[in-house]
Amino acid sequence: MSKNIAIIGAGASGIVCAIELAKKNYQVTLFEKNNKIGKKLLATGNGKCNITNKNISKSNFHSTNSNFIDYILANFSYTTCKSFFSNIGIEFVDNTNNKIFPNTLSSSSVVELLYYEAIRCGVKIILNQEILSIEKKDNFILNDNLIFDKVILANGSSAMKKLGGTNSGYSLATQLGHTIIEPFSSLVQLICDEKQEYLDIASGLKIQAKINNTIGDLLFTKYGLSGSMILDISRDISYTLQYETSTKIILDTMPTFSKDKLKDILIKRLKIAYNKNIALWLDGFIPQKLTLFILKKSNIKKQFAKDLTKKDILQFVFLLKNLEFNIKSTRGFEFAECCGGGVDTFEINNKTFQSKIVKDLFIIGELLDIDGDCGGYNLHFAWGSGYLCAKNIDHKTLHNE
Ligand SMILES: Cc1cc2nc3c(=O)[nH]c(=O)nc-3n(C[C@H](O)[C@H](O)[C@H](O)COP(=O)(O)OP(=O)(O)OC[C@H]3O[C@@H](n4cnc5c(N)ncnc54)[C@H](O)[C@@H]3O)c2cc1C
Repeated sequence: MSKNIAIIGAGASGIVCAIELAKKNYQVTLFEKNNKIGKKLLATGNGKCNITNKNISKSNFHSTNSNFIDYILANFSYTTCKSFFSNIGIEFVDNTNNKIFPNTLSSSSVVELLYYEAIRCGVKIILNQEILSIEKKDNFILNDNLIFDKVILANGSSAMKKLGGTNSGYSLATQLGHTIIEPFSSLVQLICDEKQEYLDIASGLKIQAKINNTIGDLLFTKYGLSGSMILDISRDISYTLQYETSTKIILDTMPTFSKDKLKDILIKRLKIAYNKNIALWLDGFIPQKLTLFILKKSNIKKQFAKDLTKKDILQFVFLLKNLEFNIKSTRGFEFAECCGGGVDTFEINNKTFQSKIVKDLFIIGELLDIDGDCGGYNLHFAWGSGYLCAKNIDHKTLHNE
């Protein structure tokens, strides 16, 4: 049995894979280009690490090969994930909406415990070493001089370069004959084709808005739109923008009020508007930044609320319920939390993660063409792919399926 394994990338998937392989007495060398392991992990969940989700289903994952996820879901459940982390000392806490965090609410505790477990199990960790070339002869040759029997690519995606995001995994996979489904940014903010003067007015405004029947948090910024609900829809938009020059979204900025109710409230407020400046007219009901933004968009030029006509009110209400934005781009890989696209999963065995093109090559984590929704799903896939790859690595039957 071959025992000499290199894992390229000490992120979520690579570290878990290294631990599980070392437990099986493989000699594992984990290469990391940064000066510490798990740099991206430290930033997850705003430093709290949304480690997994209690409610995981196929619909939370996206890939050109939609069945690829099935084996992971069946064999690396929430419970398996919980028990892996409990065994290394991390207890879970259920925060909100089934999102799971470490009880410490600190991603550094997750990285620290993963690090100590890897060392305890005998993983050799080599920091500041970037693997840029890979060749397969009898063995694998990395960077022209490092020889291994098996190699696991766990490089992650291009998302967030400052935290380790890189193209190098795509490059290594291509060097060995794999196909890359064009990567695109996901879980990312949107840049709007809107007058800068208008965006400056709304910048900093946080509201609960509704898009496509989903209500969530939305943040107006100087470049466009952010907030958790925008990250949630960004994948579809980013995908569309690969083929279109722009796309539209329509916000309901007052989702808990019907059009008629809003109209009644606004007409009632007109009666007590007196000489109030129009900017103050809706204070206490609608955030002032939103009022000013809508007034700009509607081109209502009145200075005092008392001068508003019924037609103005109807237009104002229409815009509150149907605020349209033209999206011209996302903030791209630099700001994305993850990437769609990646190594074509039709070329990978979904139980062992072994390449169907190159024997003894394995590919795990976000480098693959699979990405999850916001809410702990991307980390769940990263842990699960690393874990199952290690568990099944020499399972002949599974390889041949
Ligand atoms: C800001 C931010 C917040 C996030 N929050 C969450 C969250 O709360 N919950 C969630 O589920 N997901 C979250 N994600 C997504 C999640 O972090 C990733 O999906 C996950 O880390 C992917 O794991 P991975 O092992 O595939 O890659 P990574 O964790 O990115 O690890 C890859 C590692 O490989 C190293 N590497 C790459 N190429 C080479 C090379 N050639 N040689 C040597 N080393 C190399 C990199 O430096 C990196 O350390 C977040 C992402 C970001 C950017």
